[in-house]
Amino acid sequence: MELFNGGLLDVLKEAPVFFTIIYLLAVFIFGCLIGSFTNVCMYRIPLDQSICHPRSHCTSCNTLISWYDNVPIFSYIVLGRKCRHCGSPISWRYPFVEFLTGTAFFLIAYYYSLQMIVPFFLYYSFVMICISGIDISSQIIPDVFSLSLIAVGIGSSIFNPLLGNGPGERIFNSLLGMGAGGGILLLLGILGTWMFKKDAMGGGDLKLLAGIGAFIGWHKVFSTLFIASVLGTIIGVYLILSKKIERRGYIPFGPFLALAGYINLFIPDPLIILSQLWF
Ligand SMILES: [Zn+2]
Repeated sequence: MELFNGGLLDVLKEAPVFFTIIYLLAVFIFGCLIGSFTNVCMYRIPLDQSICHPRSHCTSCNTLISWYDNVPIFSYIVLGRKCRHCGSPISWRYPFVEFLTGTAFFLIAYYYSLQMIVPFFLYYSFVMICISGIDISSQIIPDVFSLSLIAVGIGSSIFNPLLGNGPGERIFNSLLGMGAGGGILLLLGILGTWMFKKDAMGGGDLKLLAGIGAFIGWHKVFSTLFIASVLGTIIGVYLILSKKIERRGYIPFGPFLALAGYINLFIPDPLIILSQLWF
């Protein structure tokens, strides 16, 4: 049984090296540009502002940013981390998100080479980064992301090697993944509300894991939840011990689900490993 779906597969392996390098570099640069748009989404969607109008402007002096001052990562360095007009500092988050999106895109292109699923996985990682940023800053997971994730996940399932072999199996596994993702958090939410007499799990997390499940199938919903819980616990304990938050303070779970969901594009299926250990 093939444990890893992907690897520098088929086409890229046969292709000339320069083609592979240009392809990966192009996807990385495309990712940085999308990262610039990711910053716009993160900043404006929680404020209910349009993501198209007005054009990018300095958040201090409102001057429109020219295209040559809006080149991802590069402009941040050239401008010396300050606005060209008013000199107010530009947050490190902008180049960070640009680089992060570029890297996330690069890994998908590297791993899945030229498969049909690549553009859909790029959308998936764009949404994971947007959701993480918005959940950290505003404690919400906008439906526009989680619901579109479900739709795109199911819609692209026939191309998705993570979901099995034939088209029928893939569509079925995608639907099952969506149901498992939403269902398991619904159950945990009901259980938590009953045990602690307060809302334990947000509806946003439920829709997010349903969307992740539609992309990676029902097996990996469980490893996503497991990895997210482990990461969440480690970071949570660290934040409490270092007094960065109160003991009863709120830590959004969305970023951990998103990170675990992204990691699951690359790691082997946990249930297949378990079954190989047992039989
Ligand atoms: Zn300015």
